[in-house]
Amino acid sequence: MRLSRYFLPVLKETPAEAQIVSHRLMLRAGMIKQASAGIYSWLPLGFRVLERIQQIVHEEQERAGHIPLLMPTLQSADLWRESGRYDAYGEEMLRIKDRGGRDLLFSPTAEELITDIFRSYVKSYKDVPLTLYQIQWKFRDEIRPRFGVMRGREFLMKDGYNFDLTKEAALHAYNRHLVSYLRTYERMGLKAIPMRADSGPIGGEDTHEFLVLAETGESEVFYDSEVTDLTFGDRAIDYDSVEQCQGVLEEFTSRYARTDETHDEAVFNQIPEERRRVARGIEVGQIFYFGTKYSEPLGATVQDAEGNKVPVHMGSHGIGVSRLLGALIEANHDDKGIIWPEGVTPFHCGIVNLKQGDAAADAACENLYDQLKTAGLEPLYDDRDERAGAKFATMDLIGLPWRITVGPRGLKNGVVELTSRRTGESVELAPEAAVHQVTEIYRKHP
Ligand code: ATP
Ligand code: MG
Repeated sequence: MRLSRYFLPVLKETPAEAQIVSHRLMLRAGMIKQASAGIYSWLPLGFRVLERIQQIVHEEQERAGHIPLLMPTLQSADLWRESGRYDAYGEEMLRIKDRGGRDLLFSPTAEELITDIFRSYVKSYKDVPLTLYQIQWKFRDEIRPRFGVMRGREFLMKDGYNFDLTKEAALHAYNRHLVSYLRTYERMGLKAIPMRADSGPIGGEDTHEFLVLAETGESEVFYDSEVTDLTFGDRAIDYDSVEQCQGVLEEFTSRYARTDETHDEAVFNQIPEERRRVARGIEVGQIFYFGTKYSEPLGATVQDAEGNKVPVHMGSHGIGVSRLLGALIEANHDDKGIIWPEGVTPFHCGIVNLKQGDAAADAACENLYDQLKTAGLEPLYDDRDERAGAKFATMDLIGLPWRITVGPRGLKNGVVELTSRRTGESVELAPEAAVHQVTEIYRKHP
């Protein structure tokens, strides 16, 4: 992409309405625009990151054997009356009437609709286990939408639902989701810690939330500092293996890590004092096992091997896709702007032409641009007729992890400059070597 032809409405002033850094930076970097309270338009740069996050979520879901589908945002109230949640859900549910006077609602989650799909088609134990998921907009009429996309009213969520014959099988699905979430967040360059939590209006027996530590987080969390040393890495895992998934679950949840809802001071105090941590966190996902809570009232049953009709055991699992942009920025920024992890960056590499109009600089930039694209990367070339300072400020604000700077003086010596946004370190090298180095870096972040 050439910046002169892109739509990147960056702001010089810090917007007064934004209280936290991620919200400020998303507005300043021209990523989002508020349409009304808690509802945002995703401008091109923000939309690119949103798409990259979705891509990672899809790839990791499919790796775990889960199947994507898409359900509507507007749902009939009748199904929700069947489960008993139409009245129970409360003011957060946006209720709508159509012209015929029928009650609809904007889906805050989709246990009812997915269970209806399941009960319509699946009749035999031979057709389970089954895990279906979607990435779809949700609406919750939050009393105080705030912090930009972190607590919106309309927000993008990955919601997945497992259907299993037995409790045991459904607990394996739960563990499998925990493992796949660990991998998903790590690919984005985020450390999200699974913590024992409370199930709230979804209901259920077992639940973990995934929290990103950040001062601006809305949840108070208590944990053993050893949990922050754990990484999943690129270990191979067989998602069908009960033992392997259980093993990872034990490794990542055996140490104390809880939200304030489930915190137990007495147990916490048994941890050696130097390892006890009280901090704040952003909830970026949650997994639930809730058994037959929806399958019983909605009649989602299958015939087991002996011919008995039994309700299926279910769980649901959510990732806050749009909230993740805020969490990523809270965890990755400095006073100049955003610092995107390679896994989610909107463009892989910036190219800054220090002297637009200089024949050698222009030609070298065009060359770099073509070579990076040929290597399968997406560069953002700042080809505007602007002073160097303004170009650097824009690149620093939007946070591309790598920048290649091209100027007539360097070119006389056959070099350009490659700079890391995170460390600020620069190296001078031949243009082809810069392309090679950037390509190598991204080989590790497919
Ligand atoms: P919270 O406690 O933050 O209100 P929740 O527990 O009600 O969230 P879930 O039902 O667990 O939310 O939804 C799954 C994920 O969707 C959450 O982990 C969170 O990342 C995201 N999410 C929930 N509510 C919002 C919101 N208002 N804006 C943006 N993302 C949200
Ligand atoms: Mg939750």
